[in-house]
Amino acid sequence: MRADIEGNYHQVIGEVAPELAQRLRGGRRESKWIGGSIRGYFRTPYGPGWALVGDAGYQKDPRTAQGITDAFTHAELLAEAIDAGLSGRRDITEALADYEQIRNIAAKPMYQLTCQLGSLSAPTPEMEQFYGSLAADPVRARQFLGVFAGSVAVSELFPVPASVLPGDLSRR
Ligand SMILES: Cc1cc2nc3c(=O)[nH]c(=O)nc-3n(C[C@H](O)[C@H](O)[C@H](O)COP(=O)(O)OP(=O)(O)OC[C@H]3O[C@@H](n4cnc5c(N)ncnc54)[C@H](O)[C@@H]3O)c2cc1C
Repeated sequence: MRADIEGNYHQVIGEVAPELAQRLRGGRRESKWIGGSIRGYFRTPYGPGWALVGDAGYQKDPRTAQGITDAFTHAELLAEAIDAGLSGRRDITEALADYEQIRNIAAKPMYQLTCQLGSLSAPTPEMEQFYGSLAADPVRARQFLGVFAGSVAVSELFPVPASVLPGDLSRR
């Protein structure tokens, strides 16, 4: 890939989406090529007088395209926690601790899958078999796309138990 990034890029898109490749060839590249993975993290998202939401509090490689959805979802969770605290319905520190807990539990399966995909290592034989099986099974193929659209839980589809996927919820 690195020996001829531009040529390989167009070749791959030409193989999977010839019409798009044709349109791309008529376009003009505006910036340099950037490749690689973005390192993931979970941060403690609150403290006295401050709170984090979106990428500021938790990030993963964008290849699974969840960051915008997560940012909105977590903003709603945080707003509920702050409202509960400021209105006096709950202790604000407890409400913010719950925000962190719910965020982490909800995000963990996709985070771990993203870490695995973001490592750019070859798929395990089980995953290879799984990807191969999708071609012959349109229902599961739709579910597979649903995972990335956020309508199907990662755990419903992927055969690998979360505990064997790389990535952890360490803070920094
Ligand atoms: C290449 C790439 C592709 C992606 N593709 C997808 C995708 O297909 N689908 C998807 O859901 N997500 C995708 N993401 C992830 C998504 O863009 C982010 O997860 C999302 O934008 C996070 O939203 P946010 O509001 O937390 O942060 P941001 O969108 O980064 O917003 C933070 C804003 O704060 C501003 N800012 C920073 N510091 C300061 C400061 N000191 N004072 C004032 N303003 C400041 C920044 O300029 C920025 O405008 C992609 C990310 C990348 C890098």
